[in-house]
Amino acid sequence: MKNRSYKREYVSESVRRDVDRGVKKLLKTKYGVPLLVILLIAGAVLYFYMNSKTDIAVDRDAELHFIDIGQGDAAMVITDEAVVVVDCGPVASSDVLTEYVRRYTDKIDCLVITHPHEDHMGGASALINEFEIGEVIMEGYDEFEYDAPAFYERAYDAMEKRGLYPVLAVPGESHTYGDISLKILAPIRDYDDPNNNSIVLRLDADGTSAIFTGDAEILSEDDILKEYYSDLDADVLKVGHHGSSTSTSEKFYLAVSPDIAVISCAADNDYGHPHRETRALFKKYSQEYYRTDEVGSVVLVCKDGEVVKK
Ligand SMILES: [Zn+2]
Repeated sequence: MKNRSYKREYVSESVRRDVDRGVKKLLKTKYGVPLLVILLIAGAVLYFYMNSKTDIAVDRDAELHFIDIGQGDAAMVITDEAVVVVDCGPVASSDVLTEYVRRYTDKIDCLVITHPHEDHMGGASALINEFEIGEVIMEGYDEFEYDAPAFYERAYDAMEKRGLYPVLAVPGESHTYGDISLKILAPIRDYDDPNNNSIVLRLDADGTSAIFTGDAEILSEDDILKEYYSDLDADVLKVGHHGSSTSTSEKFYLAVSPDIAVISCAADNDYGHPHRETRALFKKYSQEYYRTDEVGSVVLVCKDGEVVKK
């Protein structure tokens, strides 16, 4: 197991410090001694409560967080042993993202940027500047060779400062971080549309599996069906391109046949995501699915072999 400092442990330390300070103040009053007894009992109860929380943190089930960052994608998978973040949302939600992630960890073992669009990469520089990052995985069909937007330059500057060089996503290759493994399924070739160049990956974490699709559309899905059909069956589907009708073909959806699907989009977004066709597909198969615009951040957890919404 890797050495990791979960914020939950920091919280229990600060509570213990506050209790100590309170004891010293109380001892100076005439009720000091009886109150000290009460305080000691309360402190003991608190101590055992906080420790039991820490124990839960150590034995935590794998959690998949689909973070509500408005229109875009940002997901975090966290287990006892590793943290993987897939996409970083837009620039405008950088603070929301960093604050959310910081509640759980100081270190990200792997950051995957599915493709360099602002709604997936905008928050990358903030994450790279503020967290210890083990590895960054990106796709290699760089569309901003000469005229890169500011968020993209900032992400590369941040990586350079940290001595990080992005690892190229190669279809068929696997990456392992503790008990989390990623298998890259796409992009299988260079497509005209940068959305289709999205990294698509299968993630396995402590008995839970998920397919992350970025904004890959049906063209890429069809190639994945040919090359990696047997890798697609998974518990969770991060629905492609915010529920756009240009993604999630019926064939692709049935190959994944998820227990739970998640659509990451903003309320009243300019694109009309999720599209009627995607909602109709899920209705046809009585698919359990959650939208970040409706329910906020979605946290899924694997309990006794079954993925459920927390
Ligand atoms: Zn997108």
